[in-house]
Amino acid sequence: MQMLIGGKGEDSGEGTWIDVNDPATGEIIDRVPDGGKGDVGAAVDAAETAFQAWSEKTMRERGLLLVRAAGIVRERHGNLGALLTREQGKPIAEARDEVRGFANILEFYGGISSLPAGDVIRLGKQGDCITVREPLGVCGAIIPWNMPVLIMGWKTGPALLAGNTLVLKPSSSTPLTSLTLASIMEEAGVPPGVLNVVTGSGGKVGEALAAHPSIGKLSFTGSCETGRRVQQVAGTKEVTLELGGSDAMIVMEDADIGKAVEGAVRGRFYNAGQTCTAVKRLFVHEDIYGPFIKKMAERVQGVKVGNGLDPMVTMGPLHNRQQFERIAGLVLDVKELGQGNIVAGGSPSPGSAPEGKGFFFEPTVVTDVSPGSALLSEEVFGPVLPVMTCTDIGSAIASANRTRYGLGASVWTHNIAYVREVFDHVNAGVVWVNRHLTVPPEIPFGGTKESGTGRENGYRAVEGYTKTKTLFLGW
Ligand code: NAD
Repeated sequence: MQMLIGGKGEDSGEGTWIDVNDPATGEIIDRVPDGGKGDVGAAVDAAETAFQAWSEKTMRERGLLLVRAAGIVRERHGNLGALLTREQGKPIAEARDEVRGFANILEFYGGISSLPAGDVIRLGKQGDCITVREPLGVCGAIIPWNMPVLIMGWKTGPALLAGNTLVLKPSSSTPLTSLTLASIMEEAGVPPGVLNVVTGSGGKVGEALAAHPSIGKLSFTGSCETGRRVQQVAGTKEVTLELGGSDAMIVMEDADIGKAVEGAVRGRFYNAGQTCTAVKRLFVHEDIYGPFIKKMAERVQGVKVGNGLDPMVTMGPLHNRQQFERIAGLVLDVKELGQGNIVAGGSPSPGSAPEGKGFFFEPTVVTDVSPGSALLSEEVFGPVLPVMTCTDIGSAIASANRTRYGLGASVWTHNIAYVREVFDHVNAGVVWVNRHLTVPPEIPFGGTKESGTGRENGYRAVEGYTKTKTLFLGW
């Protein structure tokens, strides 16, 4: 039997179940086991048992199973998208896109399943060497609530293709899509024990997974604070950390203003601003600042906030009360401490929390932000966009780098010299030109500085789930 859930939740003391709430209504939509150390142990045992047969399949056989699972996910993307909206809050169109993104990832990894598995090194009279890349064994994955389906794909695709088995811990507030996708993988023919999902809290299930001695590699995506804790608990095992960001978007004087405004609106307000690589700081050249801000403020009025199940809604609620209070508090500081001018939004949406239900907050644009504002120094994980002016590419780059993060950045221009400057000097894992946010499975993705270590996606991600073994042939 495939371990799909956190077993009996035997370590959970009082509450053996965790409620899953709809962030738009506050309604409890389901509940999952509040797993513990024993459940993690059982899942790791199941993964160890399944490892040998799975790793002995050819990469092509494993790839075909991933592609088959992708087909089922595509067929059911409507219902899966609705499930994602209900547990996470995002608009249904974004949710269905994310589900198709999961299928894209599995198809991408299935499609590269003829990758060479090593090298031949010729050493003249000494002999020849053959290296092979072997799977690591049982791997662990811990994922966040903001893009739970996509990030499950980023870890599952390469880990399984490389021949590993996996124990995955979803966020306790978005476990339903992970469980459903894991059962689809099984339906597609992925053998029991190859992909295991354990539900429960980070403190119990997450730490038990990070600490488990049989885990060959742990891949974590989440906040910097949790990432540091996971690294500490994991000890000497291999860990990759995909953490937070404070991406800069730089709009130069020659940019197409209409496209840049669209890019900023999507870049900031997609998923209600709860995306690691969202546009979190916008720098606009002073020559176009006036018309840019005017257009931006008008465009933001057109963002329709509401329950993501309504197909007319373009921005859903914040995911939970903590998120909502954090964003409301940051905007209140801007108002009370005079840290900037709010040119759009600035309040909870009518009918939302704290008095009403659902965690809706208006898309908010703040100009003239004072340098000491937390909007510039912290990762603002919500729909608030601080906009600053810049005078030249050098000062824009210096401002973009004034952060502890280094995930992504974009420059909007047609001037190749600006592109070169930004690419060479902005500290980020990804630099986009005339777009932001797009992360197809083909491109390596990850951060520098406090945004983490390691890269996901792309064909090299498969190597990240392997170890090299060398055969030296002395002739
Ligand atoms: P989080 O750090 O609170 O939680 C992430 C996961 O870690 C969850 O499954 C959680 O249950 C688990 N966890 C919590 N405490 C733990 C512990 N002590 N030990 C082990 N696991 C523990 O993050 P979140 O609020 O779910 O997600 C938002 C954050 O994720 C943001 O900072 C965002 O930028 C980041 N993120 C990064 C990327 C990327 O690829 N770089 C992608 C998406 C999100």
